[in-house]
Amino acid sequence: MKAVLDHIGIAVKDLSAALAFYRDALGLEVEAPEEVTSQRVRAHFVPVGESKLELLEATTSESSIARYVDKRGPGLHHITLRVDDIDAAVAQLRSRGVRMIDEQPRPGAEGSTIAFIHPSSAHGVLVELKQSTIPNQSAIRNPQSTIQRFPLGELELISLSDGFLRMDGGWMFGIVPKAQWSVVAPADDRNRVTLGMRPLIVRGARTMIIDAGLGRKGDASFDDTYGVDHRYDLDRAMADARLAAEDIDIVLASHLDFDHAGGFTVRDASGRLRPRFPRAQYIVRRGEWEDATHVNSQNAARYQADNYKPLAEAGVLQLVDDDVTIMPGVRVKRTGGHSTHHQVVMIESGGKSAAFAADLIPTTVHVTESWIPALDLYPMDTLAAKRAFNEDAVAREVLVFFYHDPFVAAGYIREEDGNRRVMPA
Ligand SMILES: [Zn+2]
Repeated sequence: MKAVLDHIGIAVKDLSAALAFYRDALGLEVEAPEEVTSQRVRAHFVPVGESKLELLEATTSESSIARYVDKRGPGLHHITLRVDDIDAAVAQLRSRGVRMIDEQPRPGAEGSTIAFIHPSSAHGVLVELKQSTIPNQSAIRNPQSTIQRFPLGELELISLSDGFLRMDGGWMFGIVPKAQWSVVAPADDRNRVTLGMRPLIVRGARTMIIDAGLGRKGDASFDDTYGVDHRYDLDRAMADARLAAEDIDIVLASHLDFDHAGGFTVRDASGRLRPRFPRAQYIVRRGEWEDATHVNSQNAARYQADNYKPLAEAGVLQLVDDDVTIMPGVRVKRTGGHSTHHQVVMIESGGKSAAFAADLIPTTVHVTESWIPALDLYPMDTLAAKRAFNEDAVAREVLVFFYHDPFVAAGYIREEDGNRRVMPA
């Protein structure tokens, strides 16, 4: 069995005294607390490298933590080991006569599955086993350099990040019940789920960026509404990739929603809007441009003229009509669905294929056919386009880039027993 230390739980009696030690004296960073209502505890995570300390504070006197502290005083409470396959782990332990508190794994917090081993079998230590369906949440809690390079034949693909934003879970998952989606995408207290924004660099004959994140033009109220997290952003990602704004020859838009086109323009010191990439041609599908410049009540909130009108004024806008080749190996393909002229980008080189799925499959969990955002204007078109995209991606082993996935930049779509899932690259 392969296991890694996930965290160490510490029962705390006096939280402010504990913070005075762990946060102030040791100088560790303490994350915002999480309420675990079912256990009547509040958990304060303290990241220490790949693992964490978990300061556990009882919220009522009925809490098992309160009883523990009453009986034994504050101190080490449990250790948690993360395993890949908890069913196999529990079966192995039981076959060796290990006494389990949980004979069968049961649901834990944030979509995890857990099982406790009795301290009598673990030499006096309460051991929790945990298998998480959600990748390591610390990518969201502590965003840092997330650039990833993928060679593809003659081309180099570089996945960048413009931080995170939050969108209503209902918007993102459409007809899927919250009981289902919240297991893989936990909602915050305003029902929002965290999404990444991952512009993609394609380096070949020329240097292209596909979509450019949210940019920095939002005011405080916008940033609050969308939970904008720019502790790590596209400027830093480009610097980490050793790219300057001047290096970009082509900016390609999948569509013009603010979370994709917001980074196309910047406000200069005098307050004027200008293209962010000073040497680039900006390529937009003509139908998308028409829609974004003639909004209606259904799409007005997503199209914000400050993100693209300045491109036309600066003379750097190029409109394309069909599924055309933008530069050698890079071709756009209209999908519709999300918006009438939403497009994905197909990339080919040296016999290998990649695709930028944009909002056709915004996150890895959206590979499931019925998981279609309520934001999509034409969900049945999304369904048809996604089915065709998935079949092609499975058959040709296409490396798929997921713009909005908070954890996974790219992966391969696999099909098993009629179910599709993503194997991260
Ligand atoms: Zn989007």
